[in-house]
Amino acid sequence: MSFSTLKLSIPILNAITDLGYTKPTAIQQKAIPVVLSGKDIIAAAQTGTGKTASFVLPLLEQLTSRYKDTDKKLRGKRIRALILVPTRELAVQVEASISMYAKYLDISSMAMYGGVDAQEQKQRLIWGVDILVATPGRLLDMTHQRVLHFDELDMLVLDEADRMLDMGFIDDINKIIERLPEHRQNLLFSATMSDEVRSLAKRTIHRPVEISIVADKASEPKIAQWLVSVDKSNKSALLSHLITAHDWQQALIFIETKQGAAKLVSQLEKRGITAESIHSGRAQDIREKILNNFKSGKIKFLVATAIAARGIDIGELSRVINYDLPAQVDDYIHRIGRTGRAGASGEAISLVSKDNFRELCAIESRLGHIIERKEFVEFPVKKTVPLSKLNYVTKYAESKSTLSSNSTLSSNNQRKSNPSRGTKSKDNLPKNPWPTK
Ligand code: AMP
Repeated sequence: MSFSTLKLSIPILNAITDLGYTKPTAIQQKAIPVVLSGKDIIAAAQTGTGKTASFVLPLLEQLTSRYKDTDKKLRGKRIRALILVPTRELAVQVEASISMYAKYLDISSMAMYGGVDAQEQKQRLIWGVDILVATPGRLLDMTHQRVLHFDELDMLVLDEADRMLDMGFIDDINKIIERLPEHRQNLLFSATMSDEVRSLAKRTIHRPVEISIVADKASEPKIAQWLVSVDKSNKSALLSHLITAHDWQQALIFIETKQGAAKLVSQLEKRGITAESIHSGRAQDIREKILNNFKSGKIKFLVATAIAARGIDIGELSRVINYDLPAQVDDYIHRIGRTGRAGASGEAISLVSKDNFRELCAIESRLGHIIERKEFVEFPVKKTVPLSKLNYVTKYAESKSTLSSNSTLSSNNQRKSNPSRGTKSKDNLPKNPWPTK
């Protein structure tokens, strides 16, 4: 399928061609026609699959065709479409995508988020903005201050809905939705479809078309995942070794705490590796500058905390490192989604210490396979991470029958095969019986 069959107008097709996209990804093929038909959708799609264009392109088309023959000017302090996102980084990134896709259109867009002075954002709203990309907290502030009204809005997009709920935005989202005109088109995108996401969808969205992107080999990110079992005290030395021994040119390194981020940067620097860090403790303008320098290649190694994880889209990013495994499986999925974007190949490496065993079990259970393990003779391990049980379940499901005998068998098979190539026997492994929601 080509973009031209999707009933998008010439200026949009030209912008897509300029970007070098040759064909729509799976989510784009499914979502674009439905959005163009005016229906609501709920889409389960992970970041990296091209989901932003799957709602931005038809949204631009809708706005262009709806208003092209009318003289109806957008009034001041009004918007026509609202895209709610969990983080400032994602707001900036989605707005940047809109600007690229709308470069031949007369459509205005703006990113609005907290942590920066609100005055400039208020100024921009004075003349009205066609598409506003916003984080919930700042958006609500603006509506309370009556510098933004929703009476001309006709489309709402909830992007990364699961993440917004994880971050505790549900009350803000509900308050925002209460203020929107009833007659509007709603699009909800979420990497995972938890009960909470479904309940939000039920309250917000009317008879939606459900779209789920599974196992489309063409658009699936090709991410080679591997891990190293390592003693906690050796992690920074191992990371330095990996960087220098493999001559890595760039990596995005995820860490749990901002203190940890600062410490790791100085540990790397002591070993001659220049790195930078972004986390919630750094001012927004500094974060943006660092991110841009990382994107342009001026900064080769960027240490980021979870808060900075969303919204980082670096086309060429070939490698992410989980210096710490995240507590939530979804975070792991989102993190590794930073690489291998839109069909490119990438590598996701985790440094796992024994006290992360539970997290590892949960991640591998969700993936449905054990992650390949590599060993480095320079880093003998005192406390090896055991092999996971693939039927690891969180408490709620423990009453169900288990497949532990299968798991043990698989683990034994793993051990018998080359230990540094652990995933080779993937086909022998049981399917994940209870994929965590
Ligand atoms: P997203 O899932 O929206 O974060 O998109 C991931 C990356 O894929 C972004 O860098 C987009 O620019 C890129 N992308 C989106 N659609 C396509 C396409 N049809 N062909 C090639 N790249 C694409």
